[in-house]
Amino acid sequence: MASIAFIGLGNMGNPMAANLVKAGHTVLGFDLVTENLEIAAKNGVTVMASAAAAVKDADVVITMLPAGKHVLSVYADIAAKVRKGALFIDSSTIDVDSARKAHGIASEHGLLSIDAPVSGGVGGAEAGTLTFMAGGSADAFAKASPILEPMAGRVVHCGEGGAGQAAKICNNMILGISMIAVGEAFVLAEKLGLSHQALFDVASTSSGQCWSLTSYCPVPGPVPASPANRDYKPGFAAALMLKDLKLAQEAAQSAGAATPLGAEATQLYTLFNAMGHDSTDFSGIINFLRGKQS
Ligand code: NAD
Repeated sequence: MASIAFIGLGNMGNPMAANLVKAGHTVLGFDLVTENLEIAAKNGVTVMASAAAAVKDADVVITMLPAGKHVLSVYADIAAKVRKGALFIDSSTIDVDSARKAHGIASEHGLLSIDAPVSGGVGGAEAGTLTFMAGGSADAFAKASPILEPMAGRVVHCGEGGAGQAAKICNNMILGISMIAVGEAFVLAEKLGLSHQALFDVASTSSGQCWSLTSYCPVPGPVPASPANRDYKPGFAAALMLKDLKLAQEAAQSAGAATPLGAEATQLYTLFNAMGHDSTDFSGIINFLRGKQS
């Protein structure tokens, strides 16, 4: 069993750390928010007074932070304070350039590192069924895999440093675009007098089939577990979808890739968020498309 430092014990970090404790690891945690530390302590995490104190004797350091600037600042703070041979795993969703810089900080200090963002949301974090998309050397991935296992349904090695973040934002760009496409189709069907169920029955078994339709249908009825059936309570909040779409746009600009639909989806989610829907599930964009403006 490993000694694991867990930095960033928010909505995702706390249940992830709890699953590591349940698997028998020693977990030392740090967060800036006292309430989050109290939850962590109840889950069996040993709460520390600083990131530096948490990482001092750790075999593995996991970060689950809001954005690239937080990850780089924590890495700059702790890289010289961990013991030799420690492994860094960053599971935050951050921009690809910052992810590569984070690997650079680790490697300057002779440390192995992977970027390992996740999909599956808070539900997946609680159930220990997250999909991890990992970027880093084969050695780092081999060392990280057993640590990720109690938190994971699936772990995919996507390539060298930054490849995990690249996979995450490409996937979520597909998701953002496809949710708008499915929403538009239902709005058009309504105008044409076609029932939700009829469109679902046809498209879910035809060439329009996709996850946004079959697992996360944006109208109530056809998929009982989708957020549309509970007034668009997330799920996956529109603010997080916008964050990921913006990261995809930043990466597209930096890499010179043409992503016109990704750009359009970013615009639509920017408007949806600006109308006060940042805490609405991202599938609620169908109401914006109907022009309800509420
Ligand atoms: P969150 O805001 O609930 O948690 C982030 C935590 O980091 C906060 O508790 C904050 O206090 C802490 N923090 C910030 N700076 C810190 C520092 N310097 N030292 C220690 N702690 C610090 O966010 P979350 O929902 O847990 O998401 C975390 C990451 O996972 C984000 O990058 C997000 O995009 C990604 N993600 C979230 C979801 C989701 O459904 N919530 C799904 C997939 C990926």
